[in-house]
Amino acid sequence: MTVQDTMAGRIARIHQRIADACARAGRSPDSVVLLPVSKTFEVDAIREAMALGMTRFGENKTQELRQKAAALAGQGLQWVLIGHLQTNKAKDAARDADEVQSLDRVDLAEALHRRLLNEGRTLDVLVQVKTSTEPSKFGMAPEDVSAFLRRIAAEFPTLRVQGLMTLAVNSPDPDAVRACFRALRTLRDSLRAENIEGVSLDRLSMGMSGDFELAIEEGSTEVRIGTAIFGARTYPDAQ
Ligand SMILES: *Cc1c(COP(=O)(O)O)cnc(C)c1O
Repeated sequence: MTVQDTMAGRIARIHQRIADACARAGRSPDSVVLLPVSKTFEVDAIREAMALGMTRFGENKTQELRQKAAALAGQGLQWVLIGHLQTNKAKDAARDADEVQSLDRVDLAEALHRRLLNEGRTLDVLVQVKTSTEPSKFGMAPEDVSAFLRRIAAEFPTLRVQGLMTLAVNSPDPDAVRACFRALRTLRDSLRAENIEGVSLDRLSMGMSGDFELAIEEGSTEVRIGTAIFGARTYPDAQ
């Protein structure tokens, strides 16, 4: 077995590729956070990642997140919801998630805010933006994000916006993929210039196992990596 066949080897290799991409972009390697995406993987795999220093995990379903958080309670873990969130699951997200990266519409913001008030909590959120024209991708249209951020700041103070998230087009053409990441960063820069009070836009969550180096070259501060850490998923995923 080569070193790459262990989880430790795979994570080390990802860190190296992150550092290389940062070097190409003239960025510091610690300007990019690695979010391991544990969706569909068993608690044992998460334990293995924890033993390697991982404390924050991405999941795409509220029920799975809740089960895993319960199984691993009391160990200081943080659970990040990255998948499409139905409004009728806002209650679960408000109770169980430490962060939601898939906030993409007003009715969801409203529902989360109402539930968070009940829970007496605030929640870090990223606004998911649609940067490709693929029909299957969720996310808010770029031109709607400014008004959305103003509305959150004014009406939903339990939601603490930290930045933006996107999924790039699923394409073999690296230029098409890169264009999605560039669009998110450009949008972020123009929103930042608006200085919306109470809204931070420091974080750009973009890049997955197949495209994270391009994302880093375009300014990603957080890459969401599943298969490159945990191996192939054995059943199809909703996204
Ligand atoms: C599954 C998923 C990922 C991780 O994808 P991999 O290709 O396994 O790295 C990242 N982001 C989102 C939103 C996902 O649903």
